Amino acid sequence: MRRPLLIEVEACGICGADVSDIERADPSLQPPRVPGHEVVGRVVALGEGAPSRWKLRQRVGVGRLGGHCNECDECRQAQFQLCRNQPLVGATCDDGYAEMMLARGTGLVSIPDEFDSVEAAPILCAGIATFNALKKWGAEAGDLIAVLGIGGLGHMALQYARKMGFKVAAVGHGQDVAEDALTLGAHLYIDTSEEDAARKLNAMGGAKAIITTIGNAEAVSSCGGTCPARQAGAAWCGQGPVARVGRSSRRRRAQFARIDHRHALRKRKNLDFGVLTGVRPKIETMPLKKASEAYRKMKPGDVKFRMVLTMKETRHAH
Ligand SMILES: [Zn+2]
Ligand SMILES: [Zn+2]
Repeated sequence: MRRPLLIEVEACGICGADVSDIERADPSLQPPRVPGHEVVGRVVALGEGAPSRWKLRQRVGVGRLGGHCNECDECRQAQFQLCRNQPLVGATCDDGYAEMMLARGTGLVSIPDEFDSVEAAPILCAGIATFNALKKWGAEAGDLIAVLGIGGLGHMALQYARKMGFKVAAVGHGQDVAEDALTLGAHLYIDTSEEDAARKLNAMGGAKAIITTIGNAEAVSSCGGTCPARQAGAAWCGQGPVARVGRSSRRRRAQFARIDHRHALRKRKNLDFGVLTGVRPKIETMPLKKASEAYRKMKPGDVKFRMVLTMKETRHAH
């Protein structure tokens, strides 16, 4: 697996899918892979075969899919999303919890100057998953959209949905996230500990699409009844839990996983949307040397929106 570009990492977001990469890693991969697939850094060396569009010191991002190979049968038929040799960043190759990493040109996206590296990092997974989910399910401006779960992915979905012109209902459990949901762009907040989300959505004419970012199957199914089943979608990254929404959720999720991270140009479109609309992730940061602490904080849900590791402090410390 050739990865001819050397990237000096500046920031790497910690995604929920890192849990499966770290704790359910394929034991045949020895030594274990370095996790992290929301990476922003600078190109510091161009190896043999590096595409000419990438320049030294250029700021670039890498998401979950590490780039197609351009050589396998699928690539030769322009089915790049089905590439047989595409690394799954942070799972089958070493990646972002590091000061340096290798990358493929086909997996890279250039980062607009308007973004800080720490803000751009979560766009490359949490951002792209939700941005594509909102575009995928056929809703149009003015339609009612429900977003379930107001965390790392959900807080991006709320902002995108609002800026795309949807009527946005945030669905969460308890009042502690209500204010955040409204600040992020929701027109209304539905607290499932107090009211029935499906009934409320139905009373509003039903949601045109439901974007779920949580693994609570019951909560998802209860809302799924309010819109045509094919328009309820899950935004996941990697091997997250499957939320059942109607009978064909397995097929839908499979379809989704391919769309989420299909190719780098989609990521660029998503970043450009952020430049135009000001949508940014809400983050907290910790230095790379505290990666273990940052991960332990994220895992039980103690990070409100997104934790991002920064590399500079670590480097200066040496
Ligand atoms: Zn290929
Ligand atoms: Zn992810």
